[in-house]
Amino acid sequence: MPGSPAWEVVERSVAEQTNYLSPVLTDSPGVCQVCFGAVHVASTRCGKCAEAHHRSGGVLADVVVPITYRIGYTRQAAHDLRAYKATPSSAEARLRLTCLFWHFCVRHLACVKRRLGIDHFTHVAFVPSTKSPMVTHPLQAMLKPMVPLDLVELVLNNSIDPYSRNLNLDWFKTDPIRSISARPSAVLLIDDTWVTGARVQSAAYCLKEAGAARVATIVLARQINPDYGHAAPLVNKATGIRYDPEICVLHAPAAS
Ligand SMILES: [Zn+2]
Ligand SMILES: [Zn+2]
Repeated sequence: MPGSPAWEVVERSVAEQTNYLSPVLTDSPGVCQVCFGAVHVASTRCGKCAEAHHRSGGVLADVVVPITYRIGYTRQAAHDLRAYKATPSSAEARLRLTCLFWHFCVRHLACVKRRLGIDHFTHVAFVPSTKSPMVTHPLQAMLKPMVPLDLVELVLNNSIDPYSRNLNLDWFKTDPIRSISARPSAVLLIDDTWVTGARVQSAAYCLKEAGAARVATIVLARQINPDYGHAAPLVNKATGIRYDPEICVLHAPAAS
């Protein structure tokens, strides 16, 4: 693939990243069943996911797949997610994140397709920046060459507060999505960091309304705020487990 790092570079980079990446917990009480954020142990969905479901009538991403947790803002993983899109951008951070994403797709895209009941994705989309709407999002510039699918361009509605933490049904718009070769349209929606999920789920809603039969969201990291009231058990557990790139949230082994 033009511009792609060789596979041995990918494997070496991901192996190094396992020293500091945090795994996403899937089988623990206190974890949202939609976004894998922290919740009260008696809840299965966090407040933001419940609110998004209510606002959208359930027209949201069919599955949300974070590759890692980003816990706080000080660790190496947090640094990379900032540095790859800083000015000037860090080439090392871009390479590490590209390797992480590529490795994940090679190992786990089949898991995502299996969950959706599809053989192929037909389209890819990236969540636009709401704060720098005039430029292509650096994640799209970095990862689109890795994903040989038709691009669905999402157009930002500037009248929505770019810092909104709520799902907005009209935050993005796009042209109708047509199925390809009679396959139901299935969109791989990619973003770097899930904080509240407001932008990502607003984008998923837009894609569904435009005709996408399936939407799967892959985010490089699910942000975890260690100061959040219910986060301590999740943070303690996740930071005590080594990140395993051979496991994803859709095929993690059952709890023993
Ligand atoms: Zn959630
Ligand atoms: Zn998997």
